[in-house]
Amino acid sequence: MRAAELAEGGVLRLAERPVPGVPDGWVLVRTTAAGVCGTELHFLEGLLDPMGIPRVLGHEIAGEVTGAPAGSPGSRVAVYNVMNCGSCRYCNTNRDRLCTRSRGMVGFTADGGFAEYVIVPERNLVPLPDAVTFEAGAVLACSGMTAVHAVRLSGIGIGDRVLVNGIGGVGLMLTQVAALAGATVLAVSDGAAKLDLAQNLGARAGLVIDDPAGYESLPEEASRMLGRAPDVFFETVGTRETMRSAFRCLAPGGSFVQIGYTSQPLHIHPGALIKNELRILTSAAGSKNDLETAIALAAQGLLKTVIANRADLDGLEAAILNLRDRRVLGRNVVTFA
Ligand SMILES: [Zn+2]
Ligand SMILES: [Zn+2]
Repeated sequence: MRAAELAEGGVLRLAERPVPGVPDGWVLVRTTAAGVCGTELHFLEGLLDPMGIPRVLGHEIAGEVTGAPAGSPGSRVAVYNVMNCGSCRYCNTNRDRLCTRSRGMVGFTADGGFAEYVIVPERNLVPLPDAVTFEAGAVLACSGMTAVHAVRLSGIGIGDRVLVNGIGGVGLMLTQVAALAGATVLAVSDGAAKLDLAQNLGARAGLVIDDPAGYESLPEEASRMLGRAPDVFFETVGTRETMRSAFRCLAPGGSFVQIGYTSQPLHIHPGALIKNELRILTSAAGSKNDLETAIALAAQGLLKTVIANRADLDGLEAAILNLRDRRVLGRNVVTFA
């Protein structure tokens, strides 16, 4: 089978590999769509460790279970990418990724979906309803699930004011899920086209900030545009300037929610938090239930997936580099014939 693998020195290369053997309790999935995530950049840059190379990346996977009759329930699936035990105290409380008996993650520490076939534990399959395309299923398997998880952790509800910083794939999903939860959302992004998308998908207002200095005046702008300071600041950008600005933005009692990885440190004096009882939350990936919820919302038409570009494996590297340049409107997806 054809695969794209991460090799020595952060190089992505196309390779011919044998179709993997299937251990007991696992299934072979023929990949039909695999989303291209900002996380891929972190692997190429060495920020994340794939625990062994070469490693087939790709953790946003939809496909068909081989051997299942076409059109049968369970033949079309999205892959839940956390290989958790399903029964420890974390798995029982919607925090599957913290599983004490985790076997890692598909497309992170085990071979993933940038290949024609991928093996996954049977319990990691989530059926895709007919109303949800493979491409949407792939995107929901990372950014959709991540957004549901982060919104649930943040505890937001009706009438809350929320700022979503960064309108990439995750930011678009966060905007929709926060609005579904009843919050008024301000989307902040480096480009007007991304804000148009966010406002079409539920953001009440949008603000373009296209250089770090622009974050200096964000607290005043955010309060003006939301009617008052935000209760929750979802951070998907993660630079010194954006993080510093976030804490100045928050209403008393508000929460800063860091999502995804950043190479930059967070500098804040505890006193700046204590005075207004601000909270720092972090959220990464999500639980299987979060993914099932995202797919159910999508099937009802409540959670939309924006596909920026489709490419085959030959176009994967270019798709990843577009993310570095922040040129992607929504999500790029690798598709398989
Ligand atoms: Zn991802
Ligand atoms: Zn567990």
